[in-house]
Amino acid sequence: MNALHSSLKRAQSDGLARIRDDFPILKLRVNGRPLVFLDNAASSQMPQPVIDRWVRYQTSQHANIHRAVHHLSEVATAEYEGARKKLAAFINAREEREVIFTSGTTDAINLVAHGYGRRFIGAGDEIVLTTLEHHSNIVPWQMVAEEKGATIRVVPVNDRGELIFEEYLRLLGPRTKLVGVGHVSNALGTVNPVREMIQAAHEKGVPVLVDGAQAVPHMKLDVQALDCDFYAFSGHKMFGPTGIGVLYGKAEWLEKMQPYKGGGDMILSVTFEKTTYNVPPHKFEAGTPPIAAAITLGAAADYLAGVGFDLIHAHETDLLDYATDQVNRLPDVRIIGTAEKKAAVLSFVVDGVHPHDVGTLLNEEGVAIRTGHHCAQPVMQRFGIPATSRASFAFYNTHAEVDALVAGIKRVQKVFR
Ligand SMILES: *Cc1c(COP(=O)(O)O)cnc(C)c1O
Repeated sequence: MNALHSSLKRAQSDGLARIRDDFPILKLRVNGRPLVFLDNAASSQMPQPVIDRWVRYQTSQHANIHRAVHHLSEVATAEYEGARKKLAAFINAREEREVIFTSGTTDAINLVAHGYGRRFIGAGDEIVLTTLEHHSNIVPWQMVAEEKGATIRVVPVNDRGELIFEEYLRLLGPRTKLVGVGHVSNALGTVNPVREMIQAAHEKGVPVLVDGAQAVPHMKLDVQALDCDFYAFSGHKMFGPTGIGVLYGKAEWLEKMQPYKGGGDMILSVTFEKTTYNVPPHKFEAGTPPIAAAITLGAAADYLAGVGFDLIHAHETDLLDYATDQVNRLPDVRIIGTAEKKAAVLSFVVDGVHPHDVGTLLNEEGVAIRTGHHCAQPVMQRFGIPATSRASFAFYNTHAEVDALVAGIKRVQKVFR
């Protein structure tokens, strides 16, 4: 009965994964085996409708935007601004001008570090970050702190990889000028209590930047419900192209912020005496933007909404539970990051085997995982390890692929015994 129930559940869950037929790259064979792509936290794959959108733009809609009256320029401008509208709806922004196209999460965070940080953070001020941050939500703030004489305070995590909320509350002080927190940890998969963190920060009048690179592919985002001041994410981690991302910012902040880059399109008028900046979002989009990538990102948002986050969440939860259970059964394998609330990331260490060797041997079986510090060295330091092996799932992954991962780990252990 139980076995029947679980095999039924598994079939149901993998029904969603039949959507994987939309993803041509998943049909590849690697080293003579079907590709098992479990590196989605680093970059996910594009479905055919999204690839088609790119091709359609390049074959029938391309011209530079915003600066001409000819047909193609008008089409490209409408499609580019249409993509902004789609992204605003996708994250439930109040206004389209709150969506700024950037080259990715890193670029979006740097925009805030420059536009908000260098303007509003001064000597003796404090920036609160967490142990779980990706380097791209650490280094830009260190640069600001160093330049301004500010200090970075770090929220610690417990042994499961969860932020210690009381410690966070203690760090919020009269000198705190910004909180920066990842929505989901890329190294451990921990889902952080960002809503509660934002509420606590706002009680002290402190704005919050959320690094959403790992959240957007997995859960429905509502920036108004979160009430975050800034939210950053990347196209290539949500089944879109590289070279494009989004910074959401509340209009009231964007209006006060200084532009990050100067150039064409971000100005209203230029003389050598005085330049008047354009309004948001254009103030932050100097030069020719990645037009094709932005339009294609709009298609990726449509695609994700079409699949539906309820289904995505149900299937990925099922996959992660299954993978966690299977890996826990292996002797001498330790899962790093066992938070109660986790997204589809499984980080682990195999006793006596360097993660690099784990990754290399798995690759021989066609299984793609990532090994290393995952651009989150403070997390590794917290757990006293140099690196982990990380399998990260998307909705197109299946239980059979988890089985391939587990079989691969067993083989690694045999080779190293
Ligand atoms: C990938 C990632 C980033 C950086 O994204 P880019 O696309 O490389 O700019 C930042 N934060 C987290 C949590 C990430 O996973």
